Amino acid sequence: MEITTMAQATQLHAQFLKYPQTDPQNLSKIFNFTALSPSGNLTYARHILNSLQTPTNSYFHNTMIRAYSDSPDPIQSISLFLTLHNCEDPLSPTPDILRACADTGALSVGIKLNEYVNGKGTGLKKNVVTALIDMYSKCGCIDSAMRIFNEAVNKDVYVWTAMIAGLASHGLCREAIALFDRMEIVDLKPDEKTMTAVLSACRNMGWVDKGLTYFKNIKKVYNVRPTVQHYGCIVDLLARAGRLEDAQEFIKSMPIEPDAVLWRSLIWACKVHGDTQRVEHLIKHVEGSKMDSTDDCGTYVLLGNVYASKGKWKNKAKVRRLMNQKGLVKPSGHSRIEIDGVIYEFMAGSTCHFEAESIYKKLDEIEEELRGNGYYPKLSEVLLEIDDEEKASQLLHHSEKLAVSFGLIKAKPGTIIRIVKNLRSCEDCHSFMKYISSVYQREILIRDRIRFHHFRNGECSCGDYWQYVSLWVYFDLMDVPEM
Ligand SMILES: [Zn+2]
Ligand SMILES: [Zn+2]
Repeated sequence: MEITTMAQATQLHAQFLKYPQTDPQNLSKIFNFTALSPSGNLTYARHILNSLQTPTNSYFHNTMIRAYSDSPDPIQSISLFLTLHNCEDPLSPTPDILRACADTGALSVGIKLNEYVNGKGTGLKKNVVTALIDMYSKCGCIDSAMRIFNEAVNKDVYVWTAMIAGLASHGLCREAIALFDRMEIVDLKPDEKTMTAVLSACRNMGWVDKGLTYFKNIKKVYNVRPTVQHYGCIVDLLARAGRLEDAQEFIKSMPIEPDAVLWRSLIWACKVHGDTQRVEHLIKHVEGSKMDSTDDCGTYVLLGNVYASKGKWKNKAKVRRLMNQKGLVKPSGHSRIEIDGVIYEFMAGSTCHFEAESIYKKLDEIEEELRGNGYYPKLSEVLLEIDDEEKASQLLHHSEKLAVSFGLIKAKPGTIIRIVKNLRSCEDCHSFMKYISSVYQREILIRDRIRFHHFRNGECSCGDYWQYVSLWVYFDLMDVPEM
């Protein structure tokens, strides 16, 4: 029996409830479809889970956790896990739950899980080691990730890759490449993801020649088939170095179809480097090509932003209309912060948080304090036809600013404020955090979709390379509340 639609699944479930003895295997099939299939339904899957006779069934519960971890709301995965983990017969941590911790920045839950698996004393499975390294590096604790890596006895390619990617995302690119060299010494063959991590390290540092050499050798020496991600890294690397013509030629010469995100990254680079003529030419090219997959939402957002930054409001409105016609919705930006083991999520301008009033009050206070120290809102970041006062207020309510205000109210004094942002931060938020780190003498660590920004004493670990780094093909959506 193959289930292909939810209607079929609910019908079979009703039948199962009537005659549960007929085939007990049926329930797992129905549950797997509702929880894991793209056409499934998580609420219904949870309903099946809740109706189970036995309170803890590790197969069903782990499947549900996996489904939540893959969903846009991985916090659900953590709450379900914690409920089960704290009962008499605790559920063992799986890579899926660690992935949810990594994605949401739930560091203290991640640490507890690490202690729990260590306490078992049975030695860690390789996939748990990989997940722990990934969790620690994504939560900003690269030293802990390194400790797990060094302590692991058996390391496969996934373990090595997680560590190389972690180092690269923290801007420790020399260390990432050194580790890759060590991998060759121990005679482990890299895979696609290892090569993406290596090329990202080169890209983050602007090592054009090195990156090109790795790319040239990717098939011949490393026996890895180049993917669109690898091509994306090279386009990024060239574009960031200002070699726009080379980047464009490189895209044209690709043996695989360049996707919209790749073109988008080049357009963005041209915008950053002020090559307006090329921007217009490329926009015409992209507009003329087929753009109907949902992935292209980012291209429309970028086109809208390019028009808006030039004050071409009519063109921008046209793009907006096109997006509406195609039913494309820009993903909304949010920032998460963990305080005492609880994850709090903020959306730009949202007021639904239970302490919204004090958060906004604190934010006004912070802004005044920062302005007294030289901060001035970067109004050009607001691509809307509104007056300056409104622009300043909109900038002040970006999600990471709400999160940092909450962090300053709630987090223990002297602790690092860690924020996870799903999109890229704007230049104003970046500058705001730098000021806070010096005026309030507070370290702030923000992970956006591409890398870490560690703010200390008025400086950021990215060396303000963020706007170029934002060229990274898959992560170039900016948190602009309204387009
Ligand atoms: Zn911002
Ligand atoms: Zn930065």
